[in-house]
Amino acid sequence: MQPVIIWFRRDLRLADQAAVRAAADSGAPIIAVYVLDDESPKHRKMGDASRWWLHHSLQSLGKALEARGSKLILRRGNSANIIADFAHKAGASAVHALYHYEPWWLNAQKALRKAMSDDDIVLELHHGNYLVPPGSVTTGSGNPYKVYTPFWRALNQHMPPPQPLSTPQSFVAPDDWPVSDDLDEWALLPGTPNWAKGFAEMWTPGEEGAANSLSNFAPKADNYDEKRNLPSVADTSFLSPHLHFGEISPATIWHKIMECSQNGGGDVETYLKEIVWRDYAQNLVFQFPQYGRDNGRSQFDNLPWRDMDNETVSAEFTAWTKGRTGYPIVDAGMRELWTTGWMHNRVRMITASFLTKHLLIDWRHGEQWFWDTLVDADYASNASNWQWVAGTGMDANMFVRIMAPLTQSEKFDAGNYIRKWVPELADLDDPYVHDPDEFGRRPKGYPRKMIPHKVARQRALDAHDTIKKS
Ligand code: FAD
Repeated sequence: MQPVIIWFRRDLRLADQAAVRAAADSGAPIIAVYVLDDESPKHRKMGDASRWWLHHSLQSLGKALEARGSKLILRRGNSANIIADFAHKAGASAVHALYHYEPWWLNAQKALRKAMSDDDIVLELHHGNYLVPPGSVTTGSGNPYKVYTPFWRALNQHMPPPQPLSTPQSFVAPDDWPVSDDLDEWALLPGTPNWAKGFAEMWTPGEEGAANSLSNFAPKADNYDEKRNLPSVADTSFLSPHLHFGEISPATIWHKIMECSQNGGGDVETYLKEIVWRDYAQNLVFQFPQYGRDNGRSQFDNLPWRDMDNETVSAEFTAWTKGRTGYPIVDAGMRELWTTGWMHNRVRMITASFLTKHLLIDWRHGEQWFWDTLVDADYASNASNWQWVAGTGMDANMFVRIMAPLTQSEKFDAGNYIRKWVPELADLDDPYVHDPDEFGRRPKGYPRKMIPHKVARQRALDAHDTIKKS
């Protein structure tokens, strides 16, 4: 029997994975392949934090396949060319994969289909990385939604999602195994210094790690609404990198959360709505593939962002990346990001707002920094959230709603969070820790506030006025 190929990308799991299930159900010998493709995404190739995650996730997937009599074959290069060549040489009848919607994956899917057509090898694309296929939930007039709330309402009508597909217990092996690259030779992990020590303490990449995170979180999902905005408590699900790399399906999460809520009787809607934000972000990118680059509202093309070629501006950007702005909540967030590859959602909003409004630096610079440093860096979620905060997006916070970092810090009780991530401030009690400058308590070695809040706010409003006039 001709073999079939499973082409893995951001779907590194065996459970509720429709491409895996279809390949296994075909009864054919299976060759599972992952291609490290730094060519197709161009400047969107995976950042260093994502590469750390990927290494461990591939290791975990490889072991799960081996336990079922199979292997994960690793290759590096242009994925469409490699998979087509691979399928041709293996004499495969089909390639099974999950749909991906990033612009470079759309191109690769198209190119692969074309490249295999002469050999009559079919590319079978399956759904499963989202609650509903992006673009499939439409308005009365048949158009995809641009705004979140009506999208949520309409998507909710299609819930619950189908029950998760079972994990195949074994795979048929091919007569000959193709040669695989050695994962270690891809050098996805940092050398010296090892900046990812804090990652290893916090995360367990892979399907098992994802399932454990869900099991830990699900019984307390009904408290999510109360605690989700408190960075000092950090009681969110921590599922974002697992979801991004496809180590768990959103349908699995939905069912588990509903099960816990039915047993416990709690209200889990706020949490389910967050999972739907992820679908919404992908739904936007489905409609506007260049959402990671282009403003959702074109009038913002004329906003006079400060010039990053200017030395002062670029030094301010660097201070932001290093957590040395003099605004404790911003600095704590940026240092948490550097140390763990993750940042609390409320603090992501505060740090992004600070960059775009207080420093008046184009959101795309911040988006790119997050792209490199987040373990959950996701084209759709990152771009749509940056555009939401910056006010440039389809459905966005208004630009003129400028977050006051110090008020946010007090309101969301971030004292312990700051003391944890900014050791220079560890000895400061509330309220001093939120604004040491203001109280005359700034310790030696901690920077002054880069720009006073009122001055920054006025500068941002003035910049916005120029686009109103134009
Ligand atoms: P929980 O609060 O437990 O939420 C559960 C899941 O819902 C998350 O894992 C995530 O998949 C999804 N989710 C929650 N909030 C959002 C949201 N606003 N948009 C999209 N999905 C959401 N999330 C990413 O996954 N990748 C990114 O690159 C990313 N970049 C962001 C950039 C900025 C500027 C901001 C403000 C937010 C960004 N987010 C991103 C959204 C959000 O901050 C993270 O998903 C969340 O903090 C992850 O932690 P958690 O898994 O504990 O989330």
